[in-house]
Amino acid sequence: MQEGLLDPESAALAAFVDLDGVNETVSSLHRAFPDSLRVLHAFAAKANCLVPVLDELRRSGMGCEVASAGELAQALEAGFDPARIVFDSPAKTRQELAWALDLGVAVNADSFQELDRLDEILATRSSASRLGVRINPQIGAGSISAMSTATATSKFGIPLADEGNRRRLLQTYRDRPWLTWLHTHVGSQGCPPDLIAHGVAKAVEFAEEINTHLGRRQVTGIDVGGGLSVNFDSDETTPGFDTYVDQLRAHAPALFSGRYEIVTEFGRSVMAKNGFMAAYVEYTKTVGGRPIAITHAGAQVATRTAFAPDAWPLRVEAHDSRGRAKHGRPVHQDVAGPCCFAGDLLARDRALPLLDTGDLVVVPDTGAYYFSTPFHYNSLPEPAVHGARIDADGRVTFRLLRPAQAGFQVPVRAGR
Ligand SMILES: *Cc1c(COP(=O)(O)O)cnc(C)c1O
Repeated sequence: MQEGLLDPESAALAAFVDLDGVNETVSSLHRAFPDSLRVLHAFAAKANCLVPVLDELRRSGMGCEVASAGELAQALEAGFDPARIVFDSPAKTRQELAWALDLGVAVNADSFQELDRLDEILATRSSASRLGVRINPQIGAGSISAMSTATATSKFGIPLADEGNRRRLLQTYRDRPWLTWLHTHVGSQGCPPDLIAHGVAKAVEFAEEINTHLGRRQVTGIDVGGGLSVNFDSDETTPGFDTYVDQLRAHAPALFSGRYEIVTEFGRSVMAKNGFMAAYVEYTKTVGGRPIAITHAGAQVATRTAFAPDAWPLRVEAHDSRGRAKHGRPVHQDVAGPCCFAGDLLARDRALPLLDTGDLVVVPDTGAYYFSTPFHYNSLPEPAVHGARIDADGRVTFRLLRPAQAGFQVPVRAGR
């Protein structure tokens, strides 16, 4: 571990991104789809919105999917060509829509009301944006309901199976020749690839139905969303993008016919395995007979894990103060964070070598939706994020991707 990146007093928590790993993952995504297809892989910015990370993804050949004006600003700052940005949000304001259309950013309308707003805006200007509609194929949920967006009553998109909607959508496309894309995103973590592929198949079938109904190839592109799950219980990457593409081929062969341009919107599966956090253990104690290690990583950087531990289990690895893996006999213990509420735990009753004050805990698989979007509870500062890369001589080099948040500093006299 390079001096200074972690320090028990000044940097008791830090996060790391494996930049070589990011490039390898993006290559595996590109390889999974046949070269003959026109595919734009748009990284879902909400999974890791740090501008230098987005910049790295852009250099590796990705586009960017954004779900708010703030993410759109970050994508532009990272240098994405507006034509390679896709704007999805269920709550786009008139101003945000006008901004996106002026830039030429692709927009997927989430509702019939949003389509009416697009009509108003397009009456006053022309736009290079690719415009589509997000449909909800209503095919059911995965194992985490909060992550499932294709249930009968999900808040996203136009529900395809609701009374009258198919007919109304056909008329919508007939009336608006500028609507040339169809979008769906079935859900995220906990949705198996065959469920996602089944939802995509519904979108592809509907695109074919629109084109047949209109007697012209109006729908020219299909945005299949993201959502490939990550396995949080080992270093393996399963399922891989190739498994997902096999499922797509089986369920939606027309997607591979070459008749459609494709957009994908993967987030977690691109970044989760390429980031980790490390935190010092500040204290240990035994409560009700169970050992507890109090660390500096808790709900502020592992919010989902703290509030929904069963849906979002994370591995925790025990290391000594110099970063070497500990090999002691496994002891059941809790690994807690610094926040002032009892549920602030990274792991409960977990068998690990007994942690001591001054040890380091490492939390793998946290490159997406963890340290990149911290929760500001207890006025805890955002930790620094360091990008790591192996140079030509085989040495690990670090680059600061986000400085630690400048926040409260203990006055020096009190701190010594
Ligand atoms: C969150 C989201 C994604 C990315 O989901 P992952 O599970 O991170 O791959 C893609 N598209 C939309 C519309 C989303 O809301």
